[in-house]
Amino acid sequence: MSLDSLEELVSFCKRRGFVYQSASIYGGLQGVYDFGPLGVELKKNIKDAWWKSMVYMRDDIEGVDAALLTQKHVLKNSGHEDTFSDPMTDCKVCKKRFRTDHLESDKCPSCGATELTESREFNLMLKTNVGPVVDEDAFAYLRPETAQGIFTNFKNVLDSASPKIPFGIAQIGKAFRNEITPKNFIFRVREFEQMELEFFVEPGTDDTWHEYWVENRLKWWEDQGVPRSSLVLEHQTADDLAHYSKATVDILYHFPHGLEELEGVANRTDYDLGSHSKEQQDLHLSATVKTNEESCAKLIVQPQNNDPKKYVPFVIEPSAGVERAFLAILSEAYTKENLADGKSRVVLKLKPHLAPIKVAVTPLAKNKPELVNLAKEVVQKLRQSISGRVALEAGGNIGKMYRKNDEIGTPVCITIDFESIESDVQTVTLRDRDTMEQTRIPVSELPQTIAKMLS
Ligand code: ATP
Repeated sequence: MSLDSLEELVSFCKRRGFVYQSASIYGGLQGVYDFGPLGVELKKNIKDAWWKSMVYMRDDIEGVDAALLTQKHVLKNSGHEDTFSDPMTDCKVCKKRFRTDHLESDKCPSCGATELTESREFNLMLKTNVGPVVDEDAFAYLRPETAQGIFTNFKNVLDSASPKIPFGIAQIGKAFRNEITPKNFIFRVREFEQMELEFFVEPGTDDTWHEYWVENRLKWWEDQGVPRSSLVLEHQTADDLAHYSKATVDILYHFPHGLEELEGVANRTDYDLGSHSKEQQDLHLSATVKTNEESCAKLIVQPQNNDPKKYVPFVIEPSAGVERAFLAILSEAYTKENLADGKSRVVLKLKPHLAPIKVAVTPLAKNKPELVNLAKEVVQKLRQSISGRVALEAGGNIGKMYRKNDEIGTPVCITIDFESIESDVQTVTLRDRDTMEQTRIPVSELPQTIAKMLS
């Protein structure tokens, strides 16, 4: 059995220390969440898995970490100032605001009134003042996507790392959107993280690369425990396409609240590099971009076959939200099981590389120094060999300890009991989260055995 509702997951996340409403002691800040001790680990593990597959496992992708504060010309020329908006409608009776495209009828979803204002466009970018002078022009945007920091660094990366087309630049980091109606827990929030790759290719090869990246991403989701059978591919219609996109394939997931976008894989053409380039007239761009008077660079590459005609590369962009990944991975892993003894348990069947705690070690009794000391020794030993958290439990109620660790997804629990200290060869009991099987092994074999169980 899986989750009954989104509310069940929200309360689980709070109780076990995954996600909290931000500033909850002051009544909360709408659309903003904080991650607790286990949430920060899961989030980090998701980002590490993405970075590993994008950067460490390949020769053709470099990483960057660009600033969140974004100069206004960047977002003017990228088209965000003019077009990064959603349609908004107000209810004249209860004064609540809604995204017009999310309304199911011409009635207010909150109070049922039919008096709604005309729909108007609302820009989603957040601004902040910069510098000591309070002046209308002294502001920067909080970036609405990580992508622009990649495009504006295109030439820097080209000059310093000398990659050859096709190549990519990857980035993970915060993005901010002043969503009209943040909702469904961490699904639609105002501050979130994105994992974005901009993959630069020769024009004409873009359709093939687009297909390649959709497949690549489906495989990645599968490796994180989100099978293809839970995902739906949706080709955006011309009406839905963002201003920069020639084609976008959305990867949708059956979230607890409904089927919605988990990741978008877009063909951004030469729109972005073209719009950040000066003197665009001689660039032979496929996309329509406005004259750029602010930029001092031409973001172009020289073909490798010594063809003198330089070109602006096309870009394929897989873009996934970390919070939506978190939600999908947790929803897939959350399992309720009836046990043979008539009891039941909740077990988070996370892939071991995503588990917030890899191993929990507990002494059978907390008031027996020999057991507690051996538990501490085992923890220290494992911390040397395992990457990720190894937790020392206080000891005492073993059944309760197993239940807690099943619920937070710890793949292996180790118990130190009297046999551990009495026999000539020190041995401990290992318990597997999914099968609940217990085996006794010598302490000396722990690092190899656990490494195998976690791989
Ligand atoms: P939506 O249609 O759901 O508003 P979008 O198409 O605007 O999303 P993109 O601009 O393609 O989203 O952003 C790429 C990814 O960033 C999305 O697939 C999603 O995972 C994540 N994302 C976008 N907006 C939010 C948000 N407000 N909260 C959490 N994640 C988001």
